[in-house]
Amino acid sequence: MRAEPAPARYGIFGDIHGNLEALNAVLESMQSEGVTHYACVGDIVGYGANPVECVEKVRALDCKVVLGNHDAGVVGRTDVRFFNSAARAAIEWSMEVVDGTSATFLSALPYVARAERFTLVHATLGNPEHWTYIFSPFEAESFFRYQEDPVCFVGHTHTPCCFSTDRLHAFTRAQRVSLKPGAKYIVNVGSVGQPRDGNPLASYAIYDLADDSVRFVRVPYDIPAAQKKIIEAGLPHILAIRLERGK
Ligand code: ZN
Repeated sequence: MRAEPAPARYGIFGDIHGNLEALNAVLESMQSEGVTHYACVGDIVGYGANPVECVEKVRALDCKVVLGNHDAGVVGRTDVRFFNSAARAAIEWSMEVVDGTSATFLSALPYVARAERFTLVHATLGNPEHWTYIFSPFEAESFFRYQEDPVCFVGHTHTPCCFSTDRLHAFTRAQRVSLKPGAKYIVNVGSVGQPRDGNPLASYAIYDLADDSVRFVRVPYDIPAAQKKIIEAGLPHILAIRLERGK
């Protein structure tokens, strides 16, 4: 008799933004949480000082990864005029350092990917190349009809939260969400490298197929080290300052 393989436990993460200290802390945390599979919602680069190192770490995981707007900006797949000045400065700086296999990897990323029972997209389904932000249940509502899987994991706002077609739980920032059969969910996993919900700790989510639950995890990392690299690279100081604020 062959034993059934244990259900997968996915570590889902994104908006790393060249922050290697945060990415290393998140990968360590996932290991200690017993994560068996990985998936990435994009924006590996931009803002932070280690874009190449972060791309190489994610590439080595050999997991599903989708394209983020900063990834697209760095490899010339989206117009950089739409970014604010600090973001654009970091993208232009990253364009100089990301080349070879890292650039090829980013250039080939899809907008949407599907894995076991879930979909990944950086911003939204329907029109992923428009980089629309979903902040409210009202904004989330129009995108559920494009979603074929029970769960769609997203990033982009850097704010961990969960939207659902289940009217009683249309929006939650609870730390753990039990998925109800028949309902659809859009789960924002927050940001590894530049959280914006007022909490500076790195953010990711664990999707546990054993009990169909999503859990948000926050991880401390060496913020001063990441800040120092940003300053030394000559990137806008605000990109260093905001890391300690989580805003
Ligand atoms: Zn981002």
